[in-house]
This record gives sequence, structure tokens and C-alpha cells, in this order.
Amino acid sequence: MSSNTDFVLSIEDLTVSFDGFKAVDSLNLYVDKNEIRVVIGPNGAGKTTVLDLICGKTRATSGSIRFKGLELTRMSEHQIVRSGVGRKFQNPSIYENLTVFENLEVSYPKGRTVFGALAFKRTAEVIAKVEEIAREIMLEEFLGTEAGLLSHGQKQWLEIGMLLIQDPELLMLDEPVAGMSARERELTGQLLKRICNNRSVLVIEHDMEFVKNIAHKVTVLHQGKILKEGLMEVVQSDPKVIEVYLGH
Ligand code: ADP
Ligand code: MG
Repeated sequence: MSSNTDFVLSIEDLTVSFDGFKAVDSLNLYVDKNEIRVVIGPNGAGKTTVLDLICGKTRATSGSIRFKGLELTRMSEHQIVRSGVGRKFQNPSIYENLTVFENLEVSYPKGRTVFGALAFKRTAEVIAKVEEIAREIMLEEFLGTEAGLLSHGQKQWLEIGMLLIQDPELLMLDEPVAGMSARERELTGQLLKRICNNRSVLVIEHDMEFVKNIAHKVTVLHQGKILKEGLMEVVQSDPKVIEVYLGH
């Protein structure tokens, strides 16, 4: 056993080449339990590609991604989801013509077998879980509302709720507060701080106020490599970080 098993997520020497171009280049990244890690960096730095690699959407050229001792680079997207990795994309993928309740209900884990899916019923247990998650994402007053009628920020929260109901141990969010109002950004920060209890949260974000508010540690990515990593105060005063990213 190596000491890396202490981390929920251990990425080592991870590289992906697209026709010879290394979008992610020998990356090492370690995320702790209960940690909110924020990845920042200029457009094209490779941030979204790192999430694509972790969730199995993109296959690594070389390197290792270990999650709770599992080697994710050898697993399918489905297996990765089932192992406890939830990922929110930039555009919310909710069902606009279903209610908030129904959106959460369809995301409730239905068991691992076809039989489990067929036998699925709206039990008291499901209802209680949906209501608990709706409270967590500040949508308890909107359970009967069609998702298409929610504000942009509320739709983002609903999608976070659809991931939370599956109880992921690693939750990954790509630019969750883009397009949100100041109040929605503040509430989203509070939400992420609540839900990092008992799980790890990996966030890509450009909004520096928000990053400062939520990040336990910040990783600055540039040309597929780590430019700087550490506490926000340290990262944001680093001359290289200011030059390639924060100065713009
Ligand atoms: P970021 O999220 O930091 O803005 P990305 O991870 O989206 O950056 O992209 C990093 C680089 O990799 C970009 O130059 C992008 O064009 C390239 N890239 C990402 N995905 C692919 C792909 N599937 N095929 C080819 N090039 C890609
Ligand atoms: Mg991106």
C-alpha cells in the first residue's frame, strides 16, 4: 500500500495527447476527503479535460487516476459514476418539462440491476430523500414547479441536487456560478461548503471572489501543467500566476 491511498483522489503523471498536443501534461493532483479544491487557469489550460479524464469521457494517454483505491483509467464512464464520482457539466442537463420533484426522483439511484430499475416505486423513502435534497439545494418551495420555469441559478442547483441524491464521494463542477447573480453565487458557496462534509468537491471556476470564498486549496493550471498550488492568498500573489492569468 502506498501513502497515496490516504487521498480520495490521486492523479499521477497524467497525460493526454490530442494529435501530439498535450492538453494535460504529466499532471499530479491529490484531493483530500472533505476538501473543496478549485482549479483555475486561462482558457485552454486543460481544466475541463482533467474532469473529462476523471469521469472517463476522455481516455488518458498515460498516467494514473486513483479514486478510493480504484484505477479509474481502466473503468467505463458508468463504472466510474457507480464508484461514486458525480460530474456537473457547464450547461445544466435537467428535464425542463418535469417538476423539480420528478427531476430529483429520476436521479434517485435505482439499484444496480435491471430488476431493480423495473421494481422502482415512489416509496416513502424516495419521497423523504427527494425532500431532503430539495431543502439542501434551496428548492423545497419549488418541488411542484416545472424545472423550465426556474431561474438560471435554481436550474444549476437542481442539477447539483440530481448529483447529490446519488451521494457521490467526489463531486466535480465545471464553472457552477457562471451567469449567476451575486446572491445566487453567495448561496452556491454556502451550498458547496455544506455538501463537502463527507465528500470531496472539485470545482473549476473563473469568478475569483467565489474561489476565494469556497476554496480550501487552489490549483492553477497552465498549458496542461500545474503552475502553482496552495492557499488562495499564496496563489493570487504569485508573480507567474498574475502574469498568465490573474493579470488579464
Ligand atoms: P479549459 O477548460 O482549461 O479552458 P480545455 O480542457 O477545454 O481547457 O482544453 C484544453 C485544450 O485541449 C484546448 O486547446 C482544447 O482545444 C484541447 N482539447 C480539449 N478536448 C479536446 C479533444 N477532445 N480533442 C482535441 N483537442 C481537445
Ligand atoms: Mg473549460
